[in-house]
Amino acid sequence: MRVLIGGGSGFVGRELSRLLRVKGHEVTVISRQPGPGKITWGELESQGLPPCEGAVNLAGENLMNPLRWWNESFKKDLFSSRIDTTKSMARAIAASSSPPHSWVLVSGVACYKPSLTDVYTEDSEWTPFDILSKLVKEWEASALLPENVTNDIKQVVIRSGVVLGRDGGAMKQMLPPFWLGLGGTLGSGSQPFPWIHVSDLAGIIAHALEPNDQESLGPEPLATPSSPQQVFNGVAPALNTNLEFTKELGRILNRPTIFPMPGFVVNAAMGSERASVLLEGQNVVPKRIQETGFEYKYPDLNLALKEIIGS
Ligand code: NDP
Repeated sequence: MRVLIGGGSGFVGRELSRLLRVKGHEVTVISRQPGPGKITWGELESQGLPPCEGAVNLAGENLMNPLRWWNESFKKDLFSSRIDTTKSMARAIAASSSPPHSWVLVSGVACYKPSLTDVYTEDSEWTPFDILSKLVKEWEASALLPENVTNDIKQVVIRSGVVLGRDGGAMKQMLPPFWLGLGGTLGSGSQPFPWIHVSDLAGIIAHALEPNDQESLGPEPLATPSSPQQVFNGVAPALNTNLEFTKELGRILNRPTIFPMPGFVVNAAMGSERASVLLEGQNVVPKRIQETGFEYKYPDLNLALKEIIGS
């Protein structure tokens, strides 16, 4: 299969490209920069969708970009880098005379309201309550294809938790202080920490890209009657708190984790709207992907962190 990946040059995209190539698929990346194996967003707009059987959008300004202050300009970039790219791909798919059989968007679990006690599945009702949940709402809506072209195209949204892996994402920023023995919980530490290993997220995306009739796994969950999008929570099955993550990482690195980072410091450094991702969290269950029989390589923190740290 030929797969077109918006934002495929990034942390998740590199892992997905690797996995797809191992499976014998061809990958073309859409990027802001031209290069081998890439087309630009401008070329997508002007020349239309290149031939492909699967399409994924992973493009987006990094929410945790340490070089960007939390201000109006950054918030605008967070929205436009996700929504404009998703709309471009959806438009190109809708206009194509031979559209792909699958169209996948990776969004986030920030749509679910943080809670110490609630447990969310894909069936949980939610309405936007803050800027990040509003972002998810608009982002997922921008992926919807017009009704006249939806019949033969599988539309999937994967709501990802914090993606853990060696080559980027949250671990890249978290590991240095932990290596120095300066790691600790963020805020109280009791907040849920929804996470997934990058290799498992790539596996879920690859599964979502398979045409409905060729899946080796179990039956596909039906989209809700109100939406043609099939939703999967892209998280590990283990439910962990920030404290459990901190202690497990310290244990594996053999470092103390006795320096909690008070909530007000995280809020001041990152802006409270962005810091909510770290200081609050959601218990999210990947009910639908588990129902398909998908097998996680890293279902628990110990396995995931050992692979990432390399011991
Ligand atoms: P990256 O931060 O690695 O970014 C992916 C790609 O997005 C980049 O390689 C870049 O491609 C493109 N990009 C970055 N900034 C912009 C911009 N301002 N305008 C247009 N394109 C831009 O993302 P990840 O791989 O970590 O994540 C993939 C997707 O999953 C993202 O949409 C992210 O929001 C979502 N997600 C990620 C989580 C995580 O923990 N990593 C958690 C939940 C959701 P190029 O430079 O080639 O144009």
